[in-house]
Amino acid sequence: MARAATATINIEAFRHNYRLAKSLARSAKAVAIIKADAYGHGAIKMAYALENEADAFGVACIEEAVELREAGIQKPILLLEGFFSADELQTISELNLWCAVHSLEQIDALANTKLINPIHVWLKMDSGMHRLGVMPKEYRSAFARLNQLEQVAEVVLMTHFANADNIGCPITAQQMQCFDEVTHDLNAPISIANSAATLGYENARRQFQRPGIMLYGATPFSNPHPIADQLQPVMSLTSEIIAIREVPAGEGVGYSHRYVCNQPTLVGTVAMGYADGYPRHAKDGTPVMVNGQRTALIGRVSMDMLTVDLTQVTGAQVGSKVELWGDSLAAAEVATYCDTIPYTLFTGVTRRVHKRYI
Ligand code: PLP
Repeated sequence: MARAATATINIEAFRHNYRLAKSLARSAKAVAIIKADAYGHGAIKMAYALENEADAFGVACIEEAVELREAGIQKPILLLEGFFSADELQTISELNLWCAVHSLEQIDALANTKLINPIHVWLKMDSGMHRLGVMPKEYRSAFARLNQLEQVAEVVLMTHFANADNIGCPITAQQMQCFDEVTHDLNAPISIANSAATLGYENARRQFQRPGIMLYGATPFSNPHPIADQLQPVMSLTSEIIAIREVPAGEGVGYSHRYVCNQPTLVGTVAMGYADGYPRHAKDGTPVMVNGQRTALIGRVSMDMLTVDLTQVTGAQVGSKVELWGDSLAAAEVATYCDTIPYTLFTGVTRRVHKRYI
């Protein structure tokens, strides 16, 4: 038997989540964000899953788009970070990619390049996140200039929120107001909503939504939310118990004996470690499911193994199934015990973990 560490990816759940995103705004299109190998789920497989229904796919960079085109994906693909050097523009044109443009320097580069086919540009505004984007005072002239370029087929207006996952935080309303004030009379489609804005802000659902994390079934919010709670988990990270021992009270478990048993404890060792992507900084008490029962991580996560408390788990034995996150344990909850977010859990799963698509 091979090592049991497995990420099971539920294609129907992924489709359900995409349909949920689409259903929130009847006329809006949705760009399924599958950058970073579909947040660790496998970009080609996830693109195939939505081949017939996604309006477009979103990736971070040209390498990710080329991989999809080579796999036969013909839907529009948006480069969320645009191009990194002008050399990429020819490929963008040849592969018919949509391309974010976030700086005046990029507009100059575009103007100075002869292209086979004109490209679709998503002109990004820095409405307050202060990471990428043309500043509001320069945005209208950038838009006008792009519209005059023979290299440009269409311009979509775009921005990105810094705090949409924090519902009610005034920064999102300020960003939206800034964006709307600058663009109110520009005749072009608009895209401003990531998952959190799609779920949490009706007025952010414009012509194109850009859902990412919600497609993978994780809520972007830290509190329950009526729509986010309808998402279905896509990835289940599982493994097995490979050893069990009774450890007397007062003895430590694992590296540095971070955890010391305060009573006689049945300790189970699981074939899953930080080299599989399970976070090393997971705290004692991080929930883990064994045999369908909830128990806790105890001791420091090692490279290939971690240890759990089986004292209260009935029927646990070598070979018992362990779920680290997935159908019965939300990745978002596990993430809180690791001082992180589900995004890093999903993207951190490594090559060594066998991926199984159902
Ligand atoms: N749009 C842009 C520009 C992004 O960078 C991202 C992801 O970081 C998304 C959309 C999707 O975000 P989320 O996964 O939070 O839905």
